[in-house]
Amino acid sequence: MKRKVIAGNYKMNKTVTEVEEFLNKIKDSINVSDKDVIICPNNLAVTTAVNILKDTNVKVGVQNISDKDNGAFTGETSAKMVKDTKAEYVICGHSERRAQFGETDELVNSKVLKCLENSLKPIICVGENLLQREDNFHFVAVKHQVKNAIKNVKEEDLENIIIAYEPIWAIGTGVTATSMQAEEMCKYIKDKLEEIYGENSKKIRVLYGGSVTEKSAYELLNMPSIDGALIGSASLKEEFVNIVNTKVED
Ligand code: PGA
Repeated sequence: MKRKVIAGNYKMNKTVTEVEEFLNKIKDSINVSDKDVIICPNNLAVTTAVNILKDTNVKVGVQNISDKDNGAFTGETSAKMVKDTKAEYVICGHSERRAQFGETDELVNSKVLKCLENSLKPIICVGENLLQREDNFHFVAVKHQVKNAIKNVKEEDLENIIIAYEPIWAIGTGVTATSMQAEEMCKYIKDKLEEIYGENSKKIRVLYGGSVTEKSAYELLNMPSIDGALIGSASLKEEFVNIVNTKVED
């Protein structure tokens, strides 16, 4: 079984002071050896998070980067700037960025490649909306997103990419996909990755995200094709400690 990943996406929540207080409180309890734990706060709090977590196994990520290297792009953050903070991960193509900031599959792909070029690890979000699921179009929609997002990713980079299946209807809604629905799609994604990369595709970890709580974590994390979870609202609370410490059966 692959090492499970638990990533917390703070979105636009918690000030630097709040991140500092919260991480100081939970850092020992999320410093586990059996899982990879990643915290993605707002950019302003990244350095604070890196400093607080530097003597732990917990890693830090950001929620977005520019696909450009530098220049007149007001408000943007480059991969090089992220790398310099010692953050290691970047959430790419979150559905909120796709829906609210017009991020296309093509842009997501160029951000993924920019991460890899700068030795950052992208956590690539994919997932269908409710209409697509109701129309039974969810597999096709997700297949397209995955294929487009990983275009031109080299075989040697596969171990550095993570895919997060996040059905849009389950994000921030309190409606979690059932563990069977999540398992079914994560397995489907892995099958598609195998068609592209063969055996090497097994290096890519596939997570589930969407209203994961301490209650749903055990079942989800023990599904055979689910390699971890991307957590939004529950990552802002002490509940995150219980999710990180969820027992994964052998
Ligand atoms: P949620 O968010 O856990 O609040 O549904 C998940 C995400 O958007 O990554």
